[in-house]
Amino acid sequence: MKKEILCFLILGMTLSLTSCEGVTEKKPQVEKEESLRENAETEEEVKESSINAKKLTYKIYTGETVNISKKDRKVKYQSEDQKVAKVFKDGTVLGIKDGKTSISVSDGKQVSQIKIVVRKQGMVYPKFQMMVGEHLDLQFSNATVVSDWVSDKPEIASVTKDGMVSAKKEGKTIIHGTDGKRTYTCRLTVAKKPAHIIYLTFDDGPTRYTTPKVLDILKKNHVKATFFEIKPETEDFDLTRRVIDEGHTLALHGYEHRYDLIYRSVEIYKENLDLLQAFFFKNFGVWCTNTRFPGGSSNRVSSYNPGVMTEITKRIHDWGYHYFDWNVASGDSDGIATSGALYDHVIKQLSKERDNVILMHDYTDNDVMLGALEEIIAYGKQNGYTFLPITASTEEVHHTVKN
Ligand code: ZN
Repeated sequence: MKKEILCFLILGMTLSLTSCEGVTEKKPQVEKEESLRENAETEEEVKESSINAKKLTYKIYTGETVNISKKDRKVKYQSEDQKVAKVFKDGTVLGIKDGKTSISVSDGKQVSQIKIVVRKQGMVYPKFQMMVGEHLDLQFSNATVVSDWVSDKPEIASVTKDGMVSAKKEGKTIIHGTDGKRTYTCRLTVAKKPAHIIYLTFDDGPTRYTTPKVLDILKKNHVKATFFEIKPETEDFDLTRRVIDEGHTLALHGYEHRYDLIYRSVEIYKENLDLLQAFFFKNFGVWCTNTRFPGGSSNRVSSYNPGVMTEITKRIHDWGYHYFDWNVASGDSDGIATSGALYDHVIKQLSKERDNVILMHDYTDNDVMLGALEEIIAYGKQNGYTFLPITASTEEVHHTVKN
């Protein structure tokens, strides 16, 4: 852990009482309620304008579907920006990511426009790809609760009433549910799982020296990875942005990385995750659910608070997070001396009997790791491994808890 922490928290106070720069969303609950109220107003607006049938605007959440079809009329729909919202033949619109788009409705003679505004909040996975055998808990970034999920093709992926999806075989299905007022949809593709997988993971970034070099190597080799980040400084936002834009998984390491602080209580640990999740969502629009404990779940650095890891690991899934340890330690944080030694150390731990999660660090000046990364990728490709980013449905790799 070499990253400088500029934001010191006062011992003995809970994180919620401190005033760290950058984050003002200390009470996300309040914000959620407000935005629901906002949406209620929107619905009236829509109804009114439907009567006038002039300037029609729909404001929807991500994952929400609305039907804009005018009955007894044969028309064609087209969405200007399909990344924001898709429209289907029957006039159903699905909000995919926050932004605005316009849907043109054409009956062959006349074309009219319907505006769609997709909000940032909503269902986290309106479009998702899973691999056979994986599980996904459908989540919301606001207070929505859907308790009656249904899968159109349960033989491809089944879903429990409360939203736990199980991928069964290759294909596509649509999963939908309602909170009584709105309908939400997950368009799911199930793919075959590759025989041998390597998940490259990088902790403790982003840093100006190392992160761009890691990203360049990954890009050159067409490999996606996972970055468990600490809260980036404003001047490093471009690094986090690059991680997201280049298709890697942004994941949570912690708002803070100080062992003496974050494990002081279960509540403080939860706050340390919640703050970073809110921070990333506010600044980058990405709702992160994957986490890694500083020190791993097997850490003994938390032993000043006996039993805290046992308690946190028991509860963390109920908080909406998934946690990942590793089964291949690169040794970069254990003082391994050369890139050659790091390479050998990683290669000898790889196994075809399980998925491989490799622990590396993109903290500053990590030349030892940087010097081995490309060769590790080359070895993996030559030996039948597929490199993948961790997703919300990746099977978790856990250590044995020791505290
Ligand atoms: Zn770390």
